[in-house]
Amino acid sequence: MSAHSQTGDHPPAARIRLLGTAGARFVVARQLRYSAGTWLELGDTQILLDPGPGTLTRARRARPPLAPEKLTGILLSHKHLDHSTDVNIMLEAMAEGGRRPRGTLVAPSDALEGEDPVILRYVRSFPHRIEVWQEGMPVEFDGFTATPVRHRHGVETYGLVLASTVGRLGFVVDGRMDQELPEKYAGCQLLVLNTVRREWTPDVDHLSLPEALELIQQVNPRLAVLTHFGMTMLRAGPRRLADQASEKLGIPVLAATDGMTLESSRWTQDC
Ligand SMILES: [Zn+2]
Repeated sequence: MSAHSQTGDHPPAARIRLLGTAGARFVVARQLRYSAGTWLELGDTQILLDPGPGTLTRARRARPPLAPEKLTGILLSHKHLDHSTDVNIMLEAMAEGGRRPRGTLVAPSDALEGEDPVILRYVRSFPHRIEVWQEGMPVEFDGFTATPVRHRHGVETYGLVLASTVGRLGFVVDGRMDQELPEKYAGCQLLVLNTVRREWTPDVDHLSLPEALELIQQVNPRLAVLTHFGMTMLRAGPRRLADQASEKLGIPVLAATDGMTLESSRWTQDC
C-alpha cells in the first residue's frame, strides 16, 4: 500500500506526459513530431503506453527526466512500429539492463506469437509478468485497472480504459470509428484520442477529426486531448482545430504537443 492511500482523504495526484504526438508514417519517418510513448504517473505507479520510436531518448531527456527503472508496467496497444519500436529496449531498461526483473508487460497476442511478433523472446524474462489483452477483461495494477477495448485497425488493437483514483481515463488509440466506442468509453473524465486525419475518408483504419469530435460529444469527458497527428492535422494547425472544437462542443479540447504534461487537476473537480 502506498503512503498516499494510507493517509486516506486525498487521492494521489496523477500526471500524464505525452512524450510524442506523431501519428502517420510520414510524420513519424520525418520526425515532424516525436513518436515516443505516453508516460502515466498514477500516484506511486508509473506506466508506459505504446513505446514508439525514440521513447527511451525522450524519457531520459524529459525535464524532469523519467526513469524506466521506476516503471511498473508497459502497455502495448498494438504492434505497429510507431507504437512498438522501443518496446524491447524499454523492457530491458525497466529491468535495469535485464539484471533485475521488474514490472508487467501487457500486449496483444499477435505481438507475442504468430508470424511477426515484435517482442523479442530474449527480453521476455525481464518483466515479472506478461499478460495478453482480452476484450473487456481488466488487468490489475497497484492503484488502478486497465480494461482493453477492441478497435478495428488491421492488426490486433486495444484502446484502454484505466479506472484509477483520479477517475476513468480513456485512451482511444488507433482504429476506425465504431458505433460501440461511445458506450465502451462511457464515464471517462479524460479522453485522449489518436486523431490522425482532418477529414473523413473511406476505408481508413484511423479516426478522423469529425469522428473524434462525435466520440467526444457522446462520451462527454471533462477534458479531451487530441494527439497522434498525421500531415493533414499538422497542416491545418491542431491547436486552432482544438480551439474550434472546444467552442463547438462546450467541452475543453486540447491539441497535444510533444512533452505536454496533463495534471489530474485538469479533469478532476476537487484535486
Ligand atoms: Zn496503428
